[in-house]
Amino acid sequence: METVALPYIPVRRAYETRLYDVDWDNLEMGRYTSDHMLVCDFSDGGWQQLQIVPFGAFSLLPTSLVFHYGQAIFEGMKAFRTENDAIHLFRLDKHYERFAKTAERLCMPVLPADLFREGLRRLVELEQNWVPGQTGGALYIRPFQIATDTKLSVKVSDSYKFAVICSPAGAYFARPVRVKVEREYTRAARGGTGYAKCSGNYGGALYPTAMAKAEGYDQVLWTDGRNHEYIEESGMMNVFFVIGNTLVTPPLSDSILDGVTRDSLLVLAAARGMKIEERPVSVKELEHVLETGGISEAFGAGTAAVVSPIRSIGVDGRDYALPIVGEKGSVAITLKDALDDIRYGRTPDRYGWNYFI
Ligand SMILES: *Cc1c(COP(=O)(O)O)cnc(C)c1O
Repeated sequence: METVALPYIPVRRAYETRLYDVDWDNLEMGRYTSDHMLVCDFSDGGWQQLQIVPFGAFSLLPTSLVFHYGQAIFEGMKAFRTENDAIHLFRLDKHYERFAKTAERLCMPVLPADLFREGLRRLVELEQNWVPGQTGGALYIRPFQIATDTKLSVKVSDSYKFAVICSPAGAYFARPVRVKVEREYTRAARGGTGYAKCSGNYGGALYPTAMAKAEGYDQVLWTDGRNHEYIEESGMMNVFFVIGNTLVTPPLSDSILDGVTRDSLLVLAAARGMKIEERPVSVKELEHVLETGGISEAFGAGTAAVVSPIRSIGVDGRDYALPIVGEKGSVAITLKDALDDIRYGRTPDRYGWNYFI
């Protein structure tokens, strides 16, 4: 039988674990990091040794390009512990594909798929005690890559640092949010980097979000950068509406991020026979259905919170409450439960989404 050689990944272990410092009943998002990280440098035209080392500081010169010109990208995914105590990475290949697409947009090389896959598998295997057991919990995994050439002129870097760190995340109830249709600021323009998970997109979103918060909202509902006429996303999540008896979400474009959660929910909704439309939703239509009661639900979808129910939408200063906000039996919660059932091993994974370590 033919065997495929697995890449060799040396491991330098941490002297002691920080597992016992963790308050497992109160896992604030991003508060703790696990003991080890995966790292790999790109230099001299190629990827150097992929390795696992203790979590710790990087040493970078102030002239490193990442500090100046924003060549920085990331991913966000999760490892789950099923009810049978098996651990898997959820939709690893889909996350890798997006990482590769993002890297291309930022002129960065990307680690080959087999190294990425095996590196993450080995890291999560080593950190398995960091994967929470309780339903709703998961190990959040953050691959990222930065430009490390030391030069002060704008250019495509010739060297990079790729790394993956992990953070245990608890089961948390996403508090229903008040969102504001953003009519002035833009997250992503046509031809821009909106579809890529590059760091600059998030820095630019902070100010409009802070302005919305000052007005009493939790989050902005982004509209297209051209005329602010069509809904795109909700904060750092894709957005879904239940209009009539149809699940509606804006179609992917170069200004909308191709969310893995969005894709998963669409698959699960179709399997349940729900009516689905991927089509543009104008602010005008949204205002109309909010006024006439033609809309029952709105929610954000993303890896961090899975589903985040929206309780009200503000359009040009007028707030409309949604009639159904994350109740049992709602579309949002039905789809979230269906996704969780697969991830926690309560129903068969018919789609091959769970990549067991
Ligand atoms: C990461 C992200 C999402 C959600 O993607 P998932 O793969 O579902 O986590 C949606 N919108 C933006 C802008 C994002 O950065």
